[in-house]
Amino acid sequence: MTSSYASYQALMQKIADISNAIAVMSWDNEVYLPDDSGPLRARQIATLAALSHELFTAKSTGKLLVDLSREKLPFKKAKNISISLKDYQRDKKFTPDFVMQKSMVISQAYHAWSEAKKKNDFNIFAPRLDALIKLVKEEATILGYDEHPYNAMLELYEPGIKVAKLDTLFDDVTSRLVPFIQNMDPSWKKKPSFLSAKFDKDLQWKFGIEVLKGMGYDFKKGRQDISSHPFTISFGTDDVRVTTRIDERDFSNMTWSCIHEGGHALYEQGLDAREYGLPSGSAASLGIHESQSRLWENNLGRSRSFWQHFYPMLKKYFPAQFKGVKPEDFYKGINFISKNAIRTEADELHYHLHVAIRYELEKEIFSSPIKAKDLKQLWNEKYKAYLGVDIKNDSQGILQDVHWSHGSFGYFPTYSLGSFYAAQFHHAMAAEHKDLEDQLAKGDFSSVHQWLKKHIYRHGKTYNAEELCKKATGSTLDFQYFMNYISEKYSG
Ligand code: ZN
Repeated sequence: MTSSYASYQALMQKIADISNAIAVMSWDNEVYLPDDSGPLRARQIATLAALSHELFTAKSTGKLLVDLSREKLPFKKAKNISISLKDYQRDKKFTPDFVMQKSMVISQAYHAWSEAKKKNDFNIFAPRLDALIKLVKEEATILGYDEHPYNAMLELYEPGIKVAKLDTLFDDVTSRLVPFIQNMDPSWKKKPSFLSAKFDKDLQWKFGIEVLKGMGYDFKKGRQDISSHPFTISFGTDDVRVTTRIDERDFSNMTWSCIHEGGHALYEQGLDAREYGLPSGSAASLGIHESQSRLWENNLGRSRSFWQHFYPMLKKYFPAQFKGVKPEDFYKGINFISKNAIRTEADELHYHLHVAIRYELEKEIFSSPIKAKDLKQLWNEKYKAYLGVDIKNDSQGILQDVHWSHGSFGYFPTYSLGSFYAAQFHHAMAAEHKDLEDQLAKGDFSSVHQWLKKHIYRHGKTYNAEELCKKATGSTLDFQYFMNYISEKYSG
């Protein structure tokens, strides 16, 4: 007779197979789908999504999970059951009617947002955004929460994080980062001309592949393609895809999106394959996922030692563009700081002010009857106050991000959490591997892989982000590590 844990594992793997089939279709959707095939694909995805939801929320699943939660199981298995039971109880709260209604409101909102952004007119999106806000507030009520309704949404993306903690973090961001940027040496604020020279697309592509291979991304269990927005998607640890984009006039765009997505992909490829479909074989949280991409992109990928290895390689591809650019000038150039209106184009310091603004607005949405048109005004005011930027039009202002039109409220903070976790992880990694810098300079990432495998990858979701951070670094998330990292970096 199969044990009930084995039945649970088989069920979860079946659900994962369906979810990963959806992932393959979504990847294809972004990368190769023919122009007129969208509605067919949307229908196929919706059918599979409903099937997996049905399987997971079936009464029999609930009974299996409740029975198993009463059994005495080893730690990791017990953790899987308690996490799955929590997910089950959450998903059961939504009636099929609500799920249908939500998917309809989102699809209308997304459509309106795309049109509004194209026409640069927030008025097209505003009524849909109001409808969406009404719906997500209902969602928060259905989910239930302590203290602040926004906590219900945060829990969906970063289990365990609450407004109380984020208030402290973003207070630090605005009160410490703003003066830090103001007092920086002006030499960091000059954009170097080499970044916007012309770089051949094919050569950029080849260089990107070399960087990914150098980082340890396994091309036998993945591949890279082109998409308009770079992303990483996993179909299981043995097949993790990345995408990038190439702009001939902006070499940094391709380079650091490759490194960023490479960091996400290494995490997915590094999860425990034996735990396929289970929480212990899945990423801990969005914030921890982002910590992996940011660690590679910034802490490692914008460091002197990283480029000691890769800069000579880069110069072989583009000898004319880097003629006479000394390694130190290159290093300073790739770390230059400038304020602008667009989050995805922000440097690693201003970035968090963009997130702080979204965090404050989202909190406002969940604690007041604010309307879309007032959000736009607040958006523009906050950009002026925190970044000193005048928002010239809606497309470059409140319409710039897709997240709200997808119904994703509570997602943005995970971007900043990722950077702050990354700084803390990097510090702990360097303390455990004293020769880290020397290794990086030789293109040797074995200590990085070893540290990440030991402290992050192998645990999957067994610990939530805060627990994982404490286990890996000795303390829970502390913004001071990020301040130390940037103080050291920008002191010279
Ligand atoms: Zn990312």
